[in-house]
Amino acid sequence: MSSLNAPNIPASGTVICDSLWTGSSLVTMQDGRYNIIENGVLAVKDGQIIWLGTEENSPDFVTAVRHDFDGGIVTPGFVDCHTHLVFGGDRSAEFEQRLNGVSYAEIAAQGGGILSTVNATRKASHQQLFEQARFRLMPLLAEGVTCVEIKSGYGLSDESELKMLRVIRELAQSMPVRVKSTCLAAHALPPEFKGRADEYIQHICDVLLPQVAAENLADAVDAFCEHLAFSPAQVEQVFKRAVSLGLPVKLHAEQLSSLHGSQLAARYSALSADHLEYATEEDVKAMAAAGTTAVLLPGAYYLLRETQTPPVALFRQYGVPIAIASDANPGTSPVLSLRLMLNMACTLFHMTPEEALAGVTCHGARALGLQNSHGTLEVGKAADFVHWPLARPAELVYWLGGQLPCTVIYQGHIRGATCA
Ligand SMILES: [Zn+2]
Repeated sequence: MSSLNAPNIPASGTVICDSLWTGSSLVTMQDGRYNIIENGVLAVKDGQIIWLGTEENSPDFVTAVRHDFDGGIVTPGFVDCHTHLVFGGDRSAEFEQRLNGVSYAEIAAQGGGILSTVNATRKASHQQLFEQARFRLMPLLAEGVTCVEIKSGYGLSDESELKMLRVIRELAQSMPVRVKSTCLAAHALPPEFKGRADEYIQHICDVLLPQVAAENLADAVDAFCEHLAFSPAQVEQVFKRAVSLGLPVKLHAEQLSSLHGSQLAARYSALSADHLEYATEEDVKAMAAAGTTAVLLPGAYYLLRETQTPPVALFRQYGVPIAIASDANPGTSPVLSLRLMLNMACTLFHMTPEEALAGVTCHGARALGLQNSHGTLEVGKAADFVHWPLARPAELVYWLGGQLPCTVIYQGHIRGATCA
C-alpha cells in the first residue's frame, strides 16, 4: 500500500495533516475486496485521506490531533444508494390490516396503497416532511451511513414533487451526511392522469424536469418500469429528456416481471438499475457493457415475500458491480437499517459478506457516480469512515439487529452524539 502514498510524502519525509488515526485494522474495500491493512494509520487533511498504510511504513507526521482507536476495524462510511426517506404518513395501519386478513383489493378500494402516501405527502408541509425524514435518517446515520440517496416520487404533481426535492436539498444542507437527490416523478400515475399515462410522461418531460434542472434540485432522474407503473417506451421519453438536461439516469427495473428495463437503462448509460429479481442474462450483459451498477434491495424482496432472487451468479460472471441498499419506503420496505440489509443480502441472495460490504461502500458509491471520491479508504477520497470495536468485518454482516457501537468520522471529524 505504501507505493500509493508516495506522492504525498514530501522530500523531508514529514507529512503535515489535520488529524491522524491509528491503532486499528483498515478495511479499505479497494476494488470491492476487504484489502485489510493491519496495524493501520490514516492521515486526514482538509476532509480528505492524504495517507494510509501500516504503522511500520509510516512517515513522520505533524498533526493537530492524534486518535488511537486501540484495536478494532475501520471501514469506509456506508453508502445507502436507494431510499425513499421523504414521505408523508406511514402505512403501518395497512400492514396490520393485511395481516388481519383484509385483501389488497379492499385496501385499495379504501384509498390505501401508494396513493395514500401520495395524499399524505401532498398534504404535509415542507417542515413536516423535513422533520419526518430527519427522524428516519437518524437510525441510518447511527449505524455508519455517511452518504445517502433520497428520491422524490410521492408528490406526483409539480408542486409536491418540487416540495419533496427541496426537502431533500435541505436535508443535505443541515444533516452531517452527503445526500444525493433523485427525481422519481415517474414512480406511479397520479389520480389526475388516470388512463392518460402518456400525457403524464409528456408533462414530466415538458414541464417538471426542466424546472427541476433549472433549480438544480436533482442529481439524477429515476423511473419505475413495470406493468403496474410505466412501460419501457414511456421510461425512454423520460430518459431522453433527462439526458438532454445533463442529468444521469437510474431505473427501478425487473422487480416483479421481465420488461428488459435494465437493457434500456444500459442504453442510456444509467448509473444503476435497481431491484432486478427478473433480470435475464441479456440484461446483465448489457449492464456490464454499459458499466451500470446492479442495486439489490433485499428489504423489499423480504417484505413482499418474493421467491425469485436476483441473478447474483450472472452479475459475478459478467463483472457487474453489486450494490445493496435499504430502499427505505412506506409501502414495500419500511427499513431503517442498512446493516440488516447486509445480512439479508447474504441469507436471501447468497452473497458473501465481503460482497455485501462492498455493496454498501465502493459499489454503493458507484451507483451514485461517486466512485472517485467515496466508498473506499484510499488517498484522495473523502475522509468518511467508521471505527467498529470488532475483530473482523464479517461481524457487520453476521449480527442480526441491535446497534453495534461505532465512531463515525464524517469529512474528517467525529460526528456528534446527536447525529450518530
Ligand atoms: Zn425504490
